[in-house]
Amino acid sequence: MESILFLAPPAAGKGTQSMLVCDKYGIPHISTGDLLRDEMNQESEFGIELKEKMKQGILISDDIILSLLKKRLQQKDCDHGYVLDGFPRTENQAIEYQKMLDTLGKKIEKVIVIDVDFETLKRRIIGRSSCKKCGTVYNELIEEAKPKKQGICDKCGVNLFKREDDNEESFEKRLQVYHDQTEPLINYYQNLGILVRVDGNRSSHEVFENIVRILDGVDTDD
Ligand code: AMP
Repeated sequence: MESILFLAPPAAGKGTQSMLVCDKYGIPHISTGDLLRDEMNQESEFGIELKEKMKQGILISDDIILSLLKKRLQQKDCDHGYVLDGFPRTENQAIEYQKMLDTLGKKIEKVIVIDVDFETLKRRIIGRSSCKKCGTVYNELIEEAKPKKQGICDKCGVNLFKREDDNEESFEKRLQVYHDQTEPLINYYQNLGILVRVDGNRSSHEVFENIVRILDGVDTDD
């Protein structure tokens, strides 16, 4: 398997779906947001600057993202495919990523766009929390995604945490950034003939079934 990319607005479920795909196909999950959050937690001057920008929903510079990603992709576990979650987010990132792949003699398997309505996105972001230990994402406002016990991970039993940028103000900024800078990539990948779209308004189980059908090359109803 080659690399799989997810393009989707904030809280469309790309984190959840990409982890499900990784579990099923046994490939690593690479989230540029997580790579940045790891850097941010170092509490260096650089970390503090990152934290402020991410809190505001502003994109981090392409140079930083590309260097973090390049380092991660050199690790052995990426040899047989991986899922990229949250990258690329700008046309320049897409072009630079393509150059990286060309050098490595690799290609993109599929670019999956998850389409979700505005109101659903908003509800998902405001209720969202996740487990730092296993990465599972929950939502207090969505019945099927609630943890069994409020604020506690079903799998690990540890406290769930809420991202600082999961509030209404940041959400609106992140959505605008998505429309302005990331959405144009849909055309870019469509022209390369590797783009597929799934309806992300359905339950996460149904969305995942659709994605598996796409990746396994079975016809979908989308
Ligand atoms: P995410 O976890 O994907 O929602 O990303 C959280 C935040 O990290 C974003 O709002 C950006 O500030 C930053 N970020 C993550 N991935 C990228 C990227 N590929 N390019 C620029 N900024 C990014």
